[in-house]
Amino acid sequence: MLPNFNYVRPSSLADAVRQLSTPNARVHAGGTDLLGCLRDGVFAADTLVSLSAIEELRGIRPSLDGGLAIGAMTTLSEVAADPRVADRYPVLSRAVAAAASPQLRNQGTIGGNICQRPRCWYYRADFHCARKGGEKCYAAEGENQFHCIFGGEVCFYVHPSDVAPALVALEALVRISGPAGARSVSAETFFVPPSKDYTRETVLGPGEIVTEVVLPAQPRGTRGSYRKVRARGAWDFALAGAAVVATLTDGRVTRARIVLSGVAPIPWRVPAAERVLVGQRLSAKSAARAAATAVEGAQPLAQNAYKVEMLRGAVEEALAALL
Ligand SMILES: Cc1cc2nc3c(=O)[nH]c(=O)nc-3n(C[C@H](O)[C@H](O)[C@H](O)COP(=O)(O)OP(=O)(O)OC[C@H]3O[C@@H](n4cnc5c(N)ncnc54)[C@H](O)[C@@H]3O)c2cc1C
Repeated sequence: MLPNFNYVRPSSLADAVRQLSTPNARVHAGGTDLLGCLRDGVFAADTLVSLSAIEELRGIRPSLDGGLAIGAMTTLSEVAADPRVADRYPVLSRAVAAAASPQLRNQGTIGGNICQRPRCWYYRADFHCARKGGEKCYAAEGENQFHCIFGGEVCFYVHPSDVAPALVALEALVRISGPAGARSVSAETFFVPPSKDYTRETVLGPGEIVTEVVLPAQPRGTRGSYRKVRARGAWDFALAGAAVVATLTDGRVTRARIVLSGVAPIPWRVPAAERVLVGQRLSAKSAARAAATAVEGAQPLAQNAYKVEMLRGAVEEALAALL
């Protein structure tokens, strides 16, 4: 059962920031992740500040540099259905369409998706794990078949979002408003790895709200794709996946971004694999070499070595889709 909390629904961003300064207040967007956490006692809230009445947080519009700005309260369905996103940012369009189920995409927002909390079953259950202020990560030596193979220091969860790797691949910006005003960070630096701070997943400070995600204009000749491997065809989180973006000039790759999903606590960029492609013709051969490089350095846990080969295949297939 859900515990009691106060519920406020401000109609301006300034008011929402003000309401968030009350003790133990949290942002409520679509609620598809938040309400489950409150119900299951993962964390508590005295006040929920709904963003649903703030018009400026909704919708997709052209940005000043020729890209697109997506308001944080835009639903995943709206992003998936937008022809400009599909045409100019296919990696994002495919990633969003691969997330959750139609019902969840109708309710869940892009802001909530990148701020969702870890899905680790120890974190979500009644374990006082490191991320909750306890002394250890129970997954390190426990049931870890769905956990990470990269970047797992102290805490071994995998980032649950399909959208986040696509945003990192596109070099998107995340715009934030809070008590100290507005700021922007790159999607790449928005997510906090456990090696830096294992008690939080994003750089958001107290009272801060994600207001929009800005997709920069992509150079001519840019292609993108997202490949997700999951246990079943219906809604499910990624076991392994890859968001890839490449710019081709005269048949050669001049820029490549490869960002892994389902295998690390943050969207995991693999610059060594990107370097394999730059200067080369994109081909089945170069895709295979980049994919082999992408899995170098993986450190599987006792039960998830299967992810290494699965990931290699996912990267190769994502790159092959650009041919
Ligand atoms: C059964 C199930 C399957 C799923 N499968 C997938 C999947 O395959 N891939 C995938 O990517 N996701 C998946 N999800 C996650 C789903 O996409 C997210 O729950 C959803 O996107 C969250 O958006 P929301 O608007 O409902 O956020 P909420 O639940 O309202 O919020 C989520 C968190 O973000 C914070 N928050 C929300 N908006 C903001 C903001 N603008 N600024 C600051 N903080 C904010 C909230 O305080 C809360 O902590 C799944 C979820 C479920 C329940």
